[in-house]
Amino acid sequence: MTSDVTIDQLREAIRNVPDFPQPGIQFKDITPVLADAGLFRGLVQHLRGDFQAGDVDAVIGIDARGFIFAAALAYDLGAAFVPIRKKGKLPYTTYEQSYDLEYGSSTIAIHADAIGPGQRVLLVDDLLATGGTAAAAAKLTNRVGAKILELTFFIELSFLQGRNKLTDFPVRSLVTY
Ligand code: AMP
Repeated sequence: MTSDVTIDQLREAIRNVPDFPQPGIQFKDITPVLADAGLFRGLVQHLRGDFQAGDVDAVIGIDARGFIFAAALAYDLGAAFVPIRKKGKLPYTTYEQSYDLEYGSSTIAIHADAIGPGQRVLLVDDLLATGGTAAAAAKLTNRVGAKILELTFFIELSFLQGRNKLTDFPVRSLVTY
């Protein structure tokens, strides 16, 4: 789908915040994009890419900023929205997946009945860094038997080589650093 908003406009609106949430991390703040109605809409259209209504059964969003884009994209595609959340947040029966962080580990979860086997899904997050989160989310998605069409990100920190953990799926990002 075409958009009047360019990728360069989206890139320029991302705010770099040094040393957040800890020294040495340059945080990519996407809230200025969300705060501009035209950019937000354009971003969702770019995330949609060539997918058409009917191509996708569900869009899975990764806690927490992934929810914003996944929900908007699901609505736009006429698809369902499914959250993958941090452990302990989903109330019903879940599958869980742990993964390593730079220091320590984290666990994410999906409702066991969220998606039916064979459903075609997109997995969406705001940013691909080391790929640990997305790889764990892809494992959960495989666990419920869904078919991943694509992992879709607004931003990719390519120097962290997260794609190397996601070689089983098509990966697409809009803005690369
Ligand atoms: P990773 O598992 O290393 O790929 O980290 C991806 C997750 O961490 C995403 O959900 C991002 O929202 C968040 N994240 C990692 N690094 C950054 C960063 N520099 N700026 C903003 N968010 C980040």
